[in-house]
Amino acid sequence: MALLDETLSRILVCPADRADLSEDEAASRLVCTECGRRYPVRDGIPIMLIDQAEPPTDE
Ligand SMILES: [Zn+2]
Repeated sequence: MALLDETLSRILVCPADRADLSEDEAASRLVCTECGRRYPVRDGIPIMLIDQAEPPTDE
């Protein structure tokens, strides 16, 4: 089962850089494909706030 409604996930972008997001279903997070910030999803509601996001991990 997908983390988010398909239509919803299609319109969501990273608020920091407007990049696409990929779903991390195991961690219930949306991960920005550009900056790597991770946005939590709570009860199916993505929390698209930069100050709520986990910072990107340096690799
Ligand atoms: Zn981003």
